[in-house]
Amino acid sequence: MAEERKCNETSCNGDCSNCASAKQHSPQDFLEKLNAHSSVKHVIGVVSGKGGVGKSMVTAMLAVLINRMGYKVGILDADITGPSIPKMFGINCRAMMDDKGIIPAETANGIKIMSCNLLLENPDAPVVWRGPVLAGAVKQFWTDVNWGEVDYMFVDMPPGTGDVPLTVYQSLPITGTVIVTTPQDLVSMIVKKACNMANMMNIPVLGMVENMSYVKCPDCGKEFQIFGESHFEELCSEMQIMPLGKMPIDTSLTELCNDGEFERFDVDYLKSAAEMIETATK
Ligand code: ADP
Repeated sequence: MAEERKCNETSCNGDCSNCASAKQHSPQDFLEKLNAHSSVKHVIGVVSGKGGVGKSMVTAMLAVLINRMGYKVGILDADITGPSIPKMFGINCRAMMDDKGIIPAETANGIKIMSCNLLLENPDAPVVWRGPVLAGAVKQFWTDVNWGEVDYMFVDMPPGTGDVPLTVYQSLPITGTVIVTTPQDLVSMIVKKACNMANMMNIPVLGMVENMSYVKCPDCGKEFQIFGESHFEELCSEMQIMPLGKMPIDTSLTELCNDGEFERFDVDYLKSAAEMIETATK
């Protein structure tokens, strides 16, 4: 039987371990060096193909839940042009710097946060940068920020499959990624692109969360699927991804975000998702 070819090298024997060509193109080559005063055990990317599906909400919720489990947590807000993480945690300060690097902001319960909005004089100022500059900023959040000791670093990715997600996947030692979707067919079509991108880049997909699955009537308790019937389980099995959980539209969460008090939520929609992430990364 003909030997299976792995690359375009004419002398390829399928064994990359001693191949100069494979070494030249190793994905490790693109990894950026973490800030010298920091150590990060696990890096979890939170992605969705589409904006507005609640990726930042899921990032923040998983970060808080894992922090409540006793871990040291950081959030790297890679959504440079649409940063919402600082506002959710009531962080309005500007980032400071010392000889060890940029000092991240810290929430009331000690979650470290770095976001483009901490660097802007006016948080309402738009960030009008081209892709490579955005990607450069994300790399600097990894190399120049003194994160200290972090067990779980959550990376809130911008929507889509552009420059920044590509940079995050290539430059950061990603442990795995969590995909966020909503029940709309249109969203699941685009979310599949995000799953396929992770697969293409050999990034383990830890699981998928369905956000905005339903709304519960506060009077009668009836659940309404306002974005249509959920096909979450089918989508997970089609993409061979573990379902991590569903989250309803819950106005108490929106209010906490608006008040900058997100850390005070007392719902457990994603508690088992956080436990599954802990188990998968042990
Ligand atoms: P993305 O990061 O995907 O762009 P966000 O997390 O910023 O999306 O969410 C978009 C908007 O929807 C925000 O105003 C957020 O507060 C709100 N939102 C997201 N998920 C929920 C939810 N489960 N319940 C209530 N509001 C939500």
